[in-house]
Amino acid sequence: MFSVVVEQAHRMAVCERPNPVPAEGEVRVRVRLAGICGSDLHIYHGKNPFVTYPRVIGHEFVGHVDAVGAGVSALRIGERVVVDPVVSCGQCHACRIGRHNVCSRLQVIGVHRDGGFSQYACVPARNAYAVPAGMPVASAAVIEPFAVAANVTHRTGVLPTDVALIYGAGAVGLNLLQVLKRVYGIRTFITDRVDERLALAQACGAADDEIINTAREPLARALERRGVAGGPTLIYDAVCHPAILEEAVGIAAPAGRIGVLGFSATPSSLPQQALTSKELTLYASRLNCAMFPTVIDWITRGLVDPGRIVTHQVNFRDVAYAFELAQSQPRVSCKVLLDLGEDA
Ligand code: MN
Repeated sequence: MFSVVVEQAHRMAVCERPNPVPAEGEVRVRVRLAGICGSDLHIYHGKNPFVTYPRVIGHEFVGHVDAVGAGVSALRIGERVVVDPVVSCGQCHACRIGRHNVCSRLQVIGVHRDGGFSQYACVPARNAYAVPAGMPVASAAVIEPFAVAANVTHRTGVLPTDVALIYGAGAVGLNLLQVLKRVYGIRTFITDRVDERLALAQACGAADDEIINTAREPLARALERRGVAGGPTLIYDAVCHPAILEEAVGIAAPAGRIGVLGFSATPSSLPQQALTSKELTLYASRLNCAMFPTVIDWITRGLVDPGRIVTHQVNFRDVAYAFELAQSQPRVSCKVLLDLGEDA
């Protein structure tokens, strides 16, 4: 089989490797499509503190089961599946209280162990969720980043009276927008500095007056003009720059909640007074905690379409071009999928 391997930081190659054999409790997935995420770019650039090299990256993928290990029903062979990359120990404090996405021995497929930028990938059988027959394959490929958005809304909760603000119309911000608009039906503003991304936001459900280009209009004034003088009650930072959290704390309404998704190592400067005076709550959210069934249900019911953010499908042999698109072309690309082969 062929796999995309990051051999060390800044060095990536398409390598021929022996087909993996599923271990006990595992299925082998013949991968069809795999999404490129910002965290894949970070691994390539040597900026992910958890990764070890060499690594087959990719944690957003769909394919079909073509082999099973001991203890897994052979009836699963042929099943079309999406893979939840979160592998946890089940024993630690976080696992015992149902927060296995922050397991103290967390293993993320595509980060700590080999992932989906490969024609075949072995994963625990319980991480492979069946995809309903009618679901477009490109939508199924985006279930993982959609689950990331579903997870942060699950963490913050969403009230019918909330007015939400999403910073950043990238993949996660746009997925969040669909969750807030189409599942919860609340008023939701979304910012970006790129008009093409804000056009995508409109395709994902934002009204004309809910998009804000912060390169042209200062955020505080934009919100005031739209009648949100008291500040948003629910804020999500999908830009993940340290200055955003500082601004969010400043503009949040009293009793507001802020969802934090970033992994920056640079401190944000947050005066305690700003948090305490308004009794703000910060909810950090990492990956997802068993949200795949919820997302699959939303798609099946026609509430959301994760495929809306997919702009490109690129053959995996052109992975360098695909990375360049994902990284440097925000006006033309959003979610770039690698195509691992038609027979899958
Ligand atoms: Mn991702």
